[in-house]
Amino acid sequence: MTEAYCVKCKAKVEMKNPQEVTKDVKGNPRKFLKGTCPNCGTQVWRVMPKK
Ligand SMILES: [Zn+2]
Repeated sequence: MTEAYCVKCKAKVEMKNPQEVTKDVKGNPRKFLKGTCPNCGTQVWRVMPKK
């Protein structure tokens, strides 16, 4: 189970269909988990911890 903060629900929710994506942040590739909020369908993001 993956938790993420939903800005619409203003609460932590369980991410639906989490997908790992890589985005460049200021030239550094960072891994994110992208999914949707199960309550309202808003896209939610979570930064993966660095390894
Ligand atoms: Zn939500």
